[in-house]
Amino acid sequence: ALTAGIVGLPNVGKSTLFNAITQAGAEAANYPFATIDPNVGIVEVPDNRLNKLTELVKPKKTVPTAFEFTDIAGIVKGASKGEGLGNQFLSHIRQVDAICQVVRCFQDDNITHVSGKIDPIDDIEIINLELILADLESVNKRIQRVEKLVRQKDKEAIAEHDILLKLKAGLEEEKPVRALEFSEEHWKIVKGLHLLTSKPTLYVANVSEEEITEPDANENVQRVKEYAAAEGAEVIVVCAKIEEEIAELDQEEKEEFLDDLGISESGLDKLIKASYNLLGLATYFTAGEQEVRAWTFRKGIKAPQAAGIIHTDFEKGFIRAETVSYDHLMDAGAMAQAREKGNVRLEGKEYIVKDGDVIHFRFNV
Ligand code: GDP
Repeated sequence: ALTAGIVGLPNVGKSTLFNAITQAGAEAANYPFATIDPNVGIVEVPDNRLNKLTELVKPKKTVPTAFEFTDIAGIVKGASKGEGLGNQFLSHIRQVDAICQVVRCFQDDNITHVSGKIDPIDDIEIINLELILADLESVNKRIQRVEKLVRQKDKEAIAEHDILLKLKAGLEEEKPVRALEFSEEHWKIVKGLHLLTSKPTLYVANVSEEEITEPDANENVQRVKEYAAAEGAEVIVVCAKIEEEIAELDQEEKEEFLDDLGISESGLDKLIKASYNLLGLATYFTAGEQEVRAWTFRKGIKAPQAAGIIHTDFEKGFIRAETVSYDHLMDAGAMAQAREKGNVRLEGKEYIVKDGDVIHFRFNV
């Protein structure tokens, strides 16, 4: 399963946030893919469409979809040179599919900051630089390896060599790989190198309890937003302390609490949705009288593979995917009406599943 890694310098609020994630926790029994590891937290993906489908179909049971966050502790300055838990840290980052970088924007004189002052841009740059240096080392090694083939006039090696030189130049200017521009074809080759700074990244600005209702008044949040915008990354504002409290509440209490604060959505819910997108994930639904359920798929997959997410037999025996978009189904008000209107399609093996599809798979057993 794809996972988003939570990284950040010490004392920025990672553990507090991760604690909120595990507290809010999904019912693991529903998710056979679930990793059993203290550093992995499963979260349910909040999706209002699932609530609406439940109202429409009135099933016995509703099951949201879920995915995993991984807590990656241990980055300090010098990690790329093996400082602290450096190498271990880098190998953990290598295993995640997207990065959520937590930066401290809250002031609290009782909690020391590793650099002695609150400067989120400094913090971001410390981490990014370690990752860039690690990538530079990987790229240099790779260059040495392909150079032999380049001398033998190997066409593929020549193409890769050009890309590697471009990567090297960018990294030497301290740019993360994700901020460099490549054609789609070249980007595939870049992705294949599994560089740390090529992973999709977002920033989590951790603000204090007092600031959560008006985070833009925090100058540090503004600076993080500007920094992120320059590399096309998203910023999610949270107050980790408050998220930890919210995570202990049930749904009703949670809504009241947020109402009192005057905010419509918790920071954690925003973070979950943004991370899901960042991972390239999307949701389709199954809607039967027994169960209405959301399923996660990787954008771009075809109907049989999507069926295989439910059960391998569904993929092997795939015949057709009876499909209606969520919007069409809601407009029609019921499956039968959607069918009358001609909005229910019979899709075959080549159909590329879309976010919000409500699907009934037909298969041979
Ligand atoms: P980590 O080292 O990045 O995992 O940081 P922790 O989650 O352990 O947080 C470090 C300290 O900052 C702890 O004492 C937290 O209670 C505190 N902290 C974390 N988030 C917030 C926050 O949003 N507001 C305030 N006031 N303190 C926070």
